[in-house]
Amino acid sequence: MGVTQQQVLDSLSKIKSPRGVALTNANVLSAVVVNDGKVFFSINVDAAEARAWESVRAQAESAVRAIPGVTTALVALTAERKPGAAPSGRAGGVKPEAAHRPPQGDTSPMSRQAEIPGVGAVIAVASGKGGVGKSTTALNLALGLRDLGLKVGLLDADIYGPSIPRLTGIHERPELNADRKMIPIKRFGLAVMSIGFLVEEEMAMIWRGPMVMSAITQMLRDVEWGTLDVLVVDMPPGTGDAQLTLAQNVPLKGAVIVSTPQDLSLIDARRGLAMFRKVDVPVLGIVENMSYFQCPHCGTRSDIFGHGGARLEAERLGVPFLGEIPLHMEIRSTSDAGNPVVESEPDGPHAAVYRAIATKVRDQLKGVVAA
Ligand code: ADP
Repeated sequence: MGVTQQQVLDSLSKIKSPRGVALTNANVLSAVVVNDGKVFFSINVDAAEARAWESVRAQAESAVRAIPGVTTALVALTAERKPGAAPSGRAGGVKPEAAHRPPQGDTSPMSRQAEIPGVGAVIAVASGKGGVGKSTTALNLALGLRDLGLKVGLLDADIYGPSIPRLTGIHERPELNADRKMIPIKRFGLAVMSIGFLVEEEMAMIWRGPMVMSAITQMLRDVEWGTLDVLVVDMPPGTGDAQLTLAQNVPLKGAVIVSTPQDLSLIDARRGLAMFRKVDVPVLGIVENMSYFQCPHCGTRSDIFGHGGARLEAERLGVPFLGEIPLHMEIRSTSDAGNPVVESEPDGPHAAVYRAIATKVRDQLKGVVAA
């Protein structure tokens, strides 16, 4: 028989909250979502109390994981600041204007920018809007870094539309190790983790900002990443509060911004740049994707979108230009078939482009990454 919501609530009723009453009576629980052995809920408390609640969150997670039949338990602690309270580096919903401040008096249990043991550098791949090829770029960049001899992980944090399962052809679920940490799936020599391995897309959609943030933070920390030189994070598209909070809470060494040549997305790329600057994350550079059309039959190149805009923009903004990737059927078909082009056509021209981009990224991480 499947796990029921009542079983989860029964196990939570045995946990005492810092307020002295049972967790289930403390008026802090969100709806408990139970789906096919996977359990998700959040504990919502005031930011000032957050530290005291972290051990309760951990106890709740262990208690739920101990219920027979539970395969995954993600318990998020979301700390809301009372109106008028002093700003702090809290877990979720950070106001943009407060975001660039140093984390003074940080009451967040997920203390900002804490390193992930064993992981050399975490880098974000971001875009101002969806559909520009961010995930395709993130995966092929990860493979390019692998080809440079680095140990690479890929975390799909695009909670609103996780596409890494499709792009990698991974359909299995991660297993748990003896410490109940999730073991990333190995594919193409990469350690891969995606929220899409755990939840259906529809469920991810109903999550609210703070819960999304906490889930991603847990995916960073409750996953047995092992030793990695670089962990590439495929960010959710856009530059709203959720992205800003993520950029602020993940210990990023740098960010790569993917843009298409059209003006509109360049404006969006500029916003991405401003966002990372706000949280003091260096922008490693801009990639122009779908930069020009290369005819698959005759090889003729057509600059159908007025290519070159991203390079100029990068120069204007004083950030490195990492390279231009053509709009090509092969990139699309290999991506969508779960066999990315750097893997399936390692000697082809597209793989060379991605590897050149990876080299520029690696060079900028020198000193952080030993290779
Ligand atoms: P995003 O992560 O920005 O939403 P995706 O990486 O999922 O974008 O890409 C969107 C679609 O565009 C996918 O079908 C992908 O295969 C395709 N695509 C991405 N980059 C290219 C490219 N350079 N040439 C052709 N198709 C591409």
